[in-house]
Amino acid sequence: LTKRIIRDNGNDILCNAYPPKDRVRCTTSGSTLEPMAFYDTKENHVSISFGARQRVRSAHGVGLGTKCVFLSIRYQPDSIGTRISRGTIEGLNRTLRLYSSLIFRDGISKYAEKAYKFRPEVILGSPSPVGVLARYLQHNPGLTPRVHAVLVGGEQLTLQDRELFRNVFNCETYDSYGAEEQHTIAFQCREHDGYHIVAENTVVEIVDDANRLLPPGQPGRVLITNLHNYAMPLIRYDLGDIAVASDAQCRCGRGLPMLSSLLGREGEMIYTRSRGKIPGLYLWYECVKLLADRGIEQYQIVQEEAGEIVVEISAAKEGLRDPSSLERSLKNEFGKILGEDTGILLRQVEKIVIPEYAKRKFVVSLLKEKGSVSGL
Ligand SMILES: [Zn+2]
Repeated sequence: LTKRIIRDNGNDILCNAYPPKDRVRCTTSGSTLEPMAFYDTKENHVSISFGARQRVRSAHGVGLGTKCVFLSIRYQPDSIGTRISRGTIEGLNRTLRLYSSLIFRDGISKYAEKAYKFRPEVILGSPSPVGVLARYLQHNPGLTPRVHAVLVGGEQLTLQDRELFRNVFNCETYDSYGAEEQHTIAFQCREHDGYHIVAENTVVEIVDDANRLLPPGQPGRVLITNLHNYAMPLIRYDLGDIAVASDAQCRCGRGLPMLSSLLGREGEMIYTRSRGKIPGLYLWYECVKLLADRGIEQYQIVQEEAGEIVVEISAAKEGLRDPSSLERSLKNEFGKILGEDTGILLRQVEKIVIPEYAKRKFVVSLLKEKGSVSGL
Protein backbone atom coordinates (compact mmCIF):
# COMPACT_ATOMS: atom_id res chain seq x y z
CA LEU A 1 0.00 0.00 0.00
CA THR A 2 1.51 3.31 -1.04
CA LYS A 3 0.68 6.97 -0.70
CA ARG A 4 -0.31 7.07 -4.36
CA ILE A 5 -2.78 4.17 -3.98
CA ILE A 6 -4.41 5.90 -1.01
CA ARG A 7 -4.58 9.17 -2.90
CA ASP A 8 -6.16 7.55 -5.98
CA ASN A 9 -8.49 5.10 -4.18
CA GLY A 10 -9.12 6.63 -0.77
CA ASN A 11 -12.84 5.83 -0.62
CA ASP A 12 -12.34 2.18 -1.56
CA ILE A 13 -9.98 1.69 1.38
CA LEU A 14 -12.38 3.36 3.79
CA CYS A 15 -14.14 0.87 6.08
CA ASN A 16 -17.89 1.18 5.45
CA ALA A 17 -18.79 -0.64 8.66
CA TYR A 18 -17.00 1.92 10.80
CA PRO A 19 -19.35 4.71 12.01
CA PRO A 20 -18.50 7.95 10.16
CA LYS A 21 -19.10 9.97 13.35
CA ASP A 22 -16.21 8.18 15.02
CA ARG A 23 -13.67 8.87 12.32
CA VAL A 24 -11.63 11.95 11.55
CA ARG A 25 -10.18 13.22 8.28
CA CYS A 26 -6.45 13.91 8.44
CA THR A 27 -3.87 15.17 5.98
CA THR A 28 -0.15 14.67 5.98
CA SER A 29 1.61 17.99 6.29
CA GLY A 30 3.09 17.87 2.83
CA SER A 31 6.54 18.30 4.25
CA THR A 32 7.74 15.99 1.50
CA LEU A 33 5.78 18.13 -0.99
CA GLU A 34 3.10 15.46 -1.46
CA PRO A 35 0.25 16.02 1.00
CA MET A 36 -2.26 13.18 1.30
CA ALA A 37 -5.69 12.87 2.93
CA PHE A 38 -6.65 9.78 4.94
CA TYR A 39 -9.04 8.79 7.73
CA ASP A 40 -8.27 7.71 11.25
CA THR A 41 -10.46 6.72 14.19
CA LYS A 42 -10.94 9.50 16.71
CA GLU A 43 -9.67 7.19 19.42
CA ASN A 44 -6.43 6.46 17.56
CA HIS A 45 -5.96 10.05 16.45
CA VAL A 46 -6.39 11.49 19.92
CA SER A 47 -6.00 9.08 22.85
CA ILE A 48 -3.78 6.33 21.47
CA SER A 49 -1.38 8.70 19.72
CA PHE A 50 -1.24 10.87 22.83
CA GLY A 51 -0.42 7.84 24.95
CA ALA A 52 2.33 6.72 22.57
CA ARG A 53 3.88 10.18 22.50
CA GLN A 54 3.70 10.56 26.25
CA ARG A 55 5.38 7.22 26.76
CA VAL A 56 8.36 8.36 24.67
CA ARG A 57 8.56 11.65 26.51
CA SER A 58 8.32 10.04 29.93
CA ALA A 59 11.32 7.83 29.00
CA HIS A 60 13.28 11.10 29.00
CA GLY A 61 11.86 12.67 32.12
CA VAL A 62 9.18 14.72 30.37
CA GLY A 63 5.87 14.37 32.15
CA LEU A 64 2.56 16.20 31.82
CA GLY A 65 3.25 19.81 32.75
CA THR A 66 7.01 19.73 32.11
CA LYS A 67 7.80 23.08 30.48
CA CYS A 68 8.68 22.49 26.84
CA VAL A 69 9.46 24.70 23.89
CA PHE A 70 8.28 23.06 20.68
CA LEU A 71 10.20 24.25 17.61
CA SER A 72 7.86 23.44 14.75
CA ILE A 73 9.14 23.07 11.22
CA ARG A 74 5.84 24.16 9.67
CA TYR A 75 6.19 27.46 7.88
CA GLN A 76 2.51 27.95 7.16
CA PRO A 77 0.23 28.73 10.11
CA ASP A 78 -2.39 26.17 11.21
CA SER A 79 -6.11 26.78 10.74
CA ILE A 80 -7.88 28.81 13.46
CA GLY A 81 -9.64 25.69 14.81
CA THR A 82 -6.38 23.78 15.13
CA ARG A 83 -4.70 26.77 16.72
CA ILE A 84 -7.41 27.15 19.37
CA SER A 85 -7.64 23.48 20.29
CA ARG A 86 -3.89 22.89 20.16
CA GLY A 87 -3.16 26.17 21.95
CA THR A 88 -5.50 25.23 24.80
CA ILE A 89 -4.02 21.76 25.23
CA GLU A 90 -0.44 22.98 24.94
CA GLY A 91 -1.10 25.94 27.23
CA LEU A 92 -2.46 23.66 29.95
CA ASN A 93 0.47 21.36 29.37
CA ARG A 94 2.97 24.27 29.58
CA THR A 95 4.26 23.90 26.03
CA LEU A 96 5.22 26.90 23.91
CA ARG A 97 5.10 26.25 20.16
CA LEU A 98 7.33 28.40 17.95
CA TYR A 99 6.93 28.20 14.18
CA SER A 100 9.92 28.46 11.87
CA SER A 101 8.05 31.24 10.04
CA LEU A 102 8.82 33.46 13.05
CA ILE A 103 12.49 33.36 12.11
CA PHE A 104 11.67 34.97 8.77
CA ARG A 105 9.10 37.37 10.22
CA ASP A 106 10.75 38.57 13.44
CA GLY A 107 14.36 37.45 13.04
CA ILE A 108 16.28 34.78 14.86
CA SER A 109 17.07 36.97 17.90
CA LYS A 110 13.34 37.36 18.73
CA TYR A 111 12.84 33.63 18.19
CA ALA A 112 15.70 32.81 20.57
CA GLU A 113 14.47 35.36 23.12
CA LYS A 114 10.97 33.88 23.13
CA ALA A 115 12.36 30.40 23.70
CA TYR A 116 14.66 31.63 26.48
CA LYS A 117 12.07 33.73 28.32
CA PHE A 118 9.69 30.78 28.50
CA ARG A 119 12.33 29.00 30.65
CA PRO A 120 11.74 25.53 29.21
CA GLU A 121 13.04 22.37 30.84
CA VAL A 122 13.10 20.49 27.53
CA ILE A 123 13.34 21.37 23.83
CA LEU A 124 11.13 19.47 21.40
CA GLY A 125 11.10 19.77 17.64
CA SER A 126 12.70 18.86 14.34
CA PRO A 127 16.48 18.94 13.94
CA SER A 128 16.42 21.86 11.44
CA PRO A 129 14.79 24.53 13.61
CA VAL A 130 16.61 23.28 16.72
CA GLY A 131 19.81 23.57 14.66
CA VAL A 132 19.01 27.13 13.60
CA LEU A 133 18.53 28.07 17.26
CA ALA A 134 21.65 26.17 18.40
CA ARG A 135 23.87 27.89 15.83
CA TYR A 136 22.59 31.28 16.92
CA LEU A 137 23.18 30.42 20.59
CA GLN A 138 26.78 29.43 19.85
CA HIS A 139 27.43 33.17 19.37
CA ASN A 140 24.85 34.35 21.92
CA PRO A 141 25.25 31.91 24.81
CA GLY A 142 23.47 34.26 27.23
CA LEU A 143 20.13 33.26 25.67
CA THR A 144 20.66 29.50 26.06
CA PRO A 145 17.79 27.91 28.00
CA ARG A 146 18.78 25.42 30.70
CA VAL A 147 17.20 22.21 29.47
CA HIS A 148 17.82 18.64 30.53
CA ALA A 149 17.03 17.00 27.18
CA VAL A 150 16.41 17.71 23.50
CA LEU A 151 13.78 15.47 21.92
CA VAL A 152 13.63 15.51 18.14
CA GLY A 153 11.80 13.75 15.34
CA GLY A 154 10.34 14.26 11.89
CA GLU A 155 13.65 14.69 10.10
CA GLN A 156 16.96 12.92 9.83
CA LEU A 157 19.05 13.56 12.95
CA THR A 158 22.72 13.59 12.00
CA LEU A 159 25.76 12.97 14.19
CA GLN A 160 26.72 16.57 13.52
CA ASP A 161 23.35 17.82 14.88
CA ARG A 162 23.68 15.66 17.95
CA GLU A 163 27.18 16.99 18.63
CA LEU A 164 26.08 20.60 18.11
CA PHE A 165 23.07 20.23 20.44
CA ARG A 166 25.23 18.60 23.11
CA ASN A 167 27.75 21.44 22.97
CA VAL A 168 25.15 24.19 23.03
CA PHE A 169 22.51 22.80 25.41
CA ASN A 170 24.85 20.68 27.51
CA CYS A 171 22.52 17.66 27.47
CA GLU A 172 21.68 14.62 25.36
CA THR A 173 19.44 14.51 22.27
CA TYR A 174 16.95 11.69 21.73
CA ASP A 175 15.43 10.92 18.38
CA SER A 176 12.07 9.40 17.56
CA TYR A 177 10.54 8.16 14.36
CA GLY A 178 6.97 8.76 13.38
CA ALA A 179 4.58 9.70 10.60
CA GLU A 180 1.27 11.45 10.52
CA GLU A 181 -0.31 8.22 9.31
CA GLN A 182 0.96 6.33 12.37
CA HIS A 183 2.11 8.85 14.98
CA THR A 184 5.05 7.50 16.97
CA ILE A 185 6.55 4.41 15.37
CA ALA A 186 9.87 4.00 17.20
CA PHE A 187 11.99 5.91 19.68
CA GLN A 188 15.44 6.08 21.23
CA CYS A 189 15.80 5.35 24.89
CA ARG A 190 18.58 6.67 27.10
CA GLU A 191 20.97 4.05 25.75
CA HIS A 192 20.91 5.72 22.30
CA ASP A 193 21.43 2.30 20.80
CA GLY A 194 18.85 1.92 18.06
CA TYR A 195 15.10 2.57 18.18
CA HIS A 196 12.41 0.75 20.16
CA ILE A 197 9.34 0.02 18.04
CA VAL A 198 6.01 0.98 19.61
CA ALA A 199 4.85 -2.57 18.96
CA GLU A 200 1.44 -2.39 20.62
CA ASN A 201 0.36 0.17 17.99
CA THR A 202 2.37 -0.74 14.92
CA VAL A 203 3.79 -3.72 13.10
CA VAL A 204 7.01 -2.67 11.36
CA GLU A 205 8.46 -4.77 8.54
CA ILE A 206 11.73 -4.11 6.70
CA VAL A 207 11.47 -5.49 3.17
CA ASP A 208 13.34 -5.64 -0.12
CA ASP A 209 12.05 -4.39 -3.48
CA ALA A 210 9.89 -7.52 -3.88
CA ASN A 211 8.30 -6.92 -0.44
CA ARG A 212 10.13 -9.90 1.08
CA LEU A 213 11.08 -9.61 4.73
CA LEU A 214 14.77 -8.81 5.18
CA PRO A 215 16.90 -10.28 7.98
CA PRO A 216 18.23 -7.97 10.73
CA GLY A 217 21.18 -5.85 9.63
CA GLN A 218 20.07 -5.28 6.05
CA PRO A 219 18.67 -1.90 4.99
CA GLY A 220 15.24 -2.03 3.38
CA ARG A 221 11.92 -0.22 2.91
CA VAL A 222 9.74 0.34 5.97
CA LEU A 223 6.21 -1.10 5.82
CA ILE A 224 3.90 -0.32 8.71
CA THR A 225 0.58 -1.80 9.76
CA ASN A 226 -1.48 0.41 11.99
CA LEU A 227 -3.18 -1.76 14.62
CA HIS A 228 -5.81 0.76 15.73
CA ASN A 229 -7.02 2.53 12.60
CA TYR A 230 -10.28 0.66 11.90
CA ALA A 231 -11.63 3.58 9.86
CA MET A 232 -9.09 3.19 7.05
CA PRO A 233 -6.93 0.14 7.70
CA LEU A 234 -3.38 0.84 6.59
CA ILE A 235 -1.88 -2.60 6.08
CA ARG A 236 1.74 -3.02 4.97
CA TYR A 237 1.79 0.66 4.14
CA ASP A 238 4.99 1.90 2.54
CA LEU A 239 6.20 5.07 4.23
CA GLY A 240 8.94 5.62 1.69
CA ASP A 241 11.61 5.34 4.39
CA ILE A 242 14.64 3.09 4.66
CA ALA A 243 15.64 1.45 7.95
CA VAL A 244 17.51 -1.53 9.34
CA ALA A 245 15.90 -4.09 11.69
CA SER A 246 17.83 -5.39 14.68
CA ASP A 247 17.54 -8.53 16.79
CA ALA A 248 19.56 -7.02 19.64
CA GLN A 249 18.24 -6.66 23.17
CA CYS A 250 18.63 -3.14 24.50
CA ARG A 251 20.51 -2.65 27.76
CA CYS A 252 17.62 -0.59 29.13
CA GLY A 253 15.57 -3.78 29.52
CA ARG A 254 12.63 -2.81 27.31
CA GLY A 255 11.53 -5.92 25.47
CA LEU A 256 10.21 -4.11 22.41
CA PRO A 257 11.50 -5.09 18.94
CA MET A 258 14.16 -2.77 17.57
CA LEU A 259 15.45 -0.94 14.53
CA SER A 260 19.20 -0.42 14.55
CA SER A 261 19.13 2.67 12.34
CA LEU A 262 17.00 4.94 10.19
CA LEU A 263 18.58 5.77 6.88
CA GLY A 264 16.25 8.36 5.43
CA ARG A 265 13.83 8.20 2.58
CA GLU A 266 13.79 6.03 -0.50
CA GLY A 267 14.30 9.24 -2.52
CA GLU A 268 17.59 9.73 -0.68
CA MET A 269 19.13 6.51 -1.94
CA ILE A 270 22.12 6.77 -4.24
CA TYR A 271 22.14 4.58 -7.34
CA THR A 272 25.70 3.41 -7.91
CA ARG A 273 27.14 1.90 -11.06
CA SER A 274 28.02 -1.53 -9.67
CA ARG A 275 26.93 -1.69 -6.01
CA GLY A 276 23.17 -1.20 -6.37
CA LYS A 277 21.47 1.46 -4.28
CA ILE A 278 23.12 2.74 -1.11
CA PRO A 279 21.59 5.01 1.56
CA GLY A 280 22.92 8.53 1.07
CA LEU A 281 23.45 8.81 4.79
CA TYR A 282 26.39 6.41 4.48
CA LEU A 283 28.29 9.37 3.00
CA TRP A 284 27.33 11.78 5.72
CA TYR A 285 30.27 11.22 8.02
CA GLU A 286 32.87 11.49 5.25
CA CYS A 287 31.13 14.57 3.94
CA VAL A 288 31.23 16.33 7.30
CA LYS A 289 34.86 15.33 7.83
CA LEU A 290 36.03 16.56 4.45
CA LEU A 291 33.90 19.68 4.16
CA ALA A 292 33.67 21.01 7.70
CA ASP A 293 37.48 21.15 7.89
CA ARG A 294 37.40 23.53 4.96
CA GLY A 295 34.75 25.70 6.59
CA ILE A 296 31.97 24.54 4.26
CA GLU A 297 28.70 24.34 6.17
CA GLN A 298 26.17 24.05 3.39
CA TYR A 299 26.25 21.09 1.09
CA GLN A 300 24.08 18.47 -0.51
CA ILE A 301 24.43 15.52 -2.80
CA VAL A 302 22.50 15.67 -6.05
CA GLN A 303 21.94 12.65 -8.23
CA GLU A 304 20.92 13.56 -11.75
CA GLU A 305 22.06 10.36 -13.45
CA ALA A 306 22.28 6.82 -12.05
CA GLY A 307 25.91 5.93 -11.37
CA GLU A 308 26.99 9.52 -10.80
CA ILE A 309 26.64 12.07 -8.02
CA VAL A 310 27.33 15.78 -7.76
CA VAL A 311 28.45 17.18 -4.41
CA GLU A 312 27.09 20.72 -4.31
CA ILE A 313 28.78 23.05 -1.89
CA SER A 314 28.24 26.64 -1.00
CA ALA A 315 31.70 27.95 -0.10
CA ALA A 316 32.65 31.27 1.46
CA LYS A 317 32.55 34.40 -0.72
CA GLU A 318 36.21 34.22 -1.65
CA GLY A 319 35.56 30.73 -3.04
CA LEU A 320 37.32 27.47 -2.34
CA ARG A 321 41.12 27.61 -2.19
CA ASP A 322 41.87 24.29 -3.83
CA PRO A 323 38.74 22.73 -5.35
CA SER A 324 40.63 20.03 -7.24
CA SER A 325 42.20 18.68 -4.06
CA LEU A 326 38.75 18.52 -2.42
CA GLU A 327 37.32 16.77 -5.46
CA ARG A 328 40.15 14.21 -5.28
CA SER A 329 39.51 13.57 -1.57
CA LEU A 330 35.76 13.18 -2.18
CA LYS A 331 36.45 10.71 -4.99
CA ASN A 332 38.77 8.72 -2.76
CA GLU A 333 36.54 8.52 0.29
CA PHE A 334 33.17 8.21 -1.46
CA GLY A 335 34.66 5.73 -3.91
CA LYS A 336 35.28 3.30 -1.04
CA ILE A 337 31.56 3.31 -0.30
CA LEU A 338 29.95 3.80 -3.72
CA GLY A 339 32.52 1.86 -5.71
CA GLU A 340 35.30 3.50 -7.72
CA ASP A 341 33.28 3.33 -10.93
CA THR A 342 30.60 5.72 -9.62
CA GLY A 343 31.17 9.25 -10.90
CA ILE A 344 31.76 11.89 -8.22
CA LEU A 345 31.77 15.56 -9.23
CA LEU A 346 32.15 18.75 -7.22
CA ARG A 347 30.03 21.81 -7.98
CA GLN A 348 30.24 25.18 -6.25
CA VAL A 349 26.93 27.03 -5.98
CA GLU A 350 26.04 30.38 -4.48
CA LYS A 351 23.45 29.00 -2.09
CA ILE A 352 21.86 25.64 -1.28
CA VAL A 353 18.15 26.28 -1.67
CA ILE A 354 15.66 24.34 0.46
CA PRO A 355 12.04 24.48 -0.79
CA GLU A 356 9.98 26.48 1.67
CA TYR A 357 7.65 23.73 2.86
CA ALA A 358 10.05 20.84 2.52
CA LYS A 359 12.23 19.05 4.98
CA ARG A 360 15.95 19.37 4.70
CA LYS A 361 17.50 16.74 2.50
CA PHE A 362 21.04 15.51 2.39
CA VAL A 363 20.52 13.74 -0.93
CA VAL A 364 18.39 15.24 -3.66
CA SER A 365 17.54 12.63 -6.25
CA LEU A 366 16.30 13.80 -9.63
CA LEU A 367 16.16 10.26 -11.01
CA LYS A 368 12.43 9.89 -10.44
CA GLU A 369 11.61 13.07 -12.36
CA LYS A 370 13.91 12.06 -15.16
CA GLY A 371 12.50 8.52 -15.22
CA SER A 372 16.05 7.16 -15.17
CA VAL A 373 15.25 4.43 -12.66
CA SER A 374 12.16 2.27 -12.79
CA GLY A 375 10.32 1.22 -9.67
CA LEU A 376 11.12 4.38 -7.76
ZN1 LIG B 1 16.49 0.80 25.28
